[in-house]
Amino acid sequence: MGLMETIIKKVLEKGIIIEKTKLSGSVYKIRIQNDGIADYDFVPGHFLRLGVGIDQDEISLKDKVRSYSVWDIDKEKNTLDIAIAKHSQGIGAKWVETCKPNDTVYFKWKKGKFLVDDSADSYLMIGDLSALSHLYIINRNLPDNKQVKSLIYSQQSKDFFTDVDGLKPFDFHVMSENPFTEIILKLNSIIPEMKGDSMVYIAGDSRVCIALTNYFRKELNWSAKQIKTKPFWNPDKKGLE
Ligand SMILES: Cc1cc2nc3c(=O)[nH]c(=O)nc-3n(C[C@H](O)[C@H](O)[C@H](O)COP(=O)(O)OP(=O)(O)OC[C@H]3O[C@@H](n4cnc5c(N)ncnc54)[C@H](O)[C@@H]3O)c2cc1C
Repeated sequence: MGLMETIIKKVLEKGIIIEKTKLSGSVYKIRIQNDGIADYDFVPGHFLRLGVGIDQDEISLKDKVRSYSVWDIDKEKNTLDIAIAKHSQGIGAKWVETCKPNDTVYFKWKKGKFLVDDSADSYLMIGDLSALSHLYIINRNLPDNKQVKSLIYSQQSKDFFTDVDGLKPFDFHVMSENPFTEIILKLNSIIPEMKGDSMVYIAGDSRVCIALTNYFRKELNWSAKQIKTKPFWNPDKKGLE
């Protein structure tokens, strides 16, 4: 084991995979157990930097970790769930295909700003498969009296998966990659139905995040406070943060 590997393992939390489930043709759920989870001050929207290329000398430092949103957390059992889409076929996708129960994992908690915010009356969730678990946990943690609209897309209907409670609270759409125009067409009928103060969460493909942020700001005149966006991947880059 190299010096860098030793340092990474010392600074990261150590967990064990206790469950691996195939959720759809392209997505796996991984349940991780770690003694510190009960004491962690969790806010829906927090995510992990997960070691996916540790102990592989040929992998560069920036490819040793990838970010994954916490989809569910159980403080009594000290577990958390993540859902990893494998369309990318990168190091993270390879890791999720080969990892197995009882494997040790290394991770670091990250907070970010793409968190649950209950200050609006109505919400719109837009994202692809990589963002679905993040949008699910935000939705589950909004008060029941909020209106929630959604537009979740993927290239194949068999990719979609239900939330942790087995429910399907979002509208799924089969769309091409980077479907900005198709999304705008759907928004024309969704947005007029949103009541009171509105907020949109946009995550996943960075091209869609940028184009839609511009659309909401410039075409619809929404304020920055109403738009929560987080690019999860970029076609010209590996990893993102
Ligand atoms: C805050 C945050 C939270 C995230 N949460 C999740 C999560 O919960 N689940 C999840 O699956 N991912 C999530 N991601 C994305 C994740 O970190 C990785 O970027 C993704 O898994 C791809 O990693 P990779 O190593 O497999 O591919 P990379 O080596 O990073 O990329 C290989 C190629 O695939 C492309 N690519 C990457 N993702 C996709 C995709 N979804 N569809 C099509 N092409 C893609 C890249 O642009 C690149 O060209 C999150 C990212 C961030 C920043």
